[in-house]
Amino acid sequence: MKMKDCIFCKIANGEIPAATLYEDQDFRVILDLGPASKGHALILPKAHFENLYELPDDLAGKALILAKEVTKKMKKVLNCDGYNVVQNNGTAAGQTVFHFHMHLIPRNENDGVGITWEPG
Ligand code: 5GP
Ligand code: ZN
Repeated sequence: MKMKDCIFCKIANGEIPAATLYEDQDFRVILDLGPASKGHALILPKAHFENLYELPDDLAGKALILAKEVTKKMKKVLNCDGYNVVQNNGTAAGQTVFHFHMHLIPRNENDGVGITWEPG
């Protein structure tokens, strides 16, 4: 089911353009508009589920397998050293778009992504 006014429903179903890395009948994988690192991608189901707990188990399994495939491809294309696979549930956890998505974030040794320090 699609949800009216959900930006990721529109992107996943091709109504709003996004840089697409992969697409099948259940998912679209896109580049994040505000990347944490070069190649930061998002796995979006085409149907609307607010979070991991609403996502049916068969799609949860497929999403994780897709995460493995896409990150393997990232390694080939970007030659990165590692990845974060991140999935936020709830505002307290940093979720800002309430359509399930999985972040795939390429990482390199000492890239500083996610590190904060006191200024001065
Ligand atoms: P969350 O914080 O909900 O886990 O992640 C939402 C992610 O979606 C953020 O990393 C944000 O940059 C990304 N995002 C939000 N709106 C858009 C959009 O319209 N297009 C794309 N490609 N990414 C988006
Ligand atoms: Zn949606």
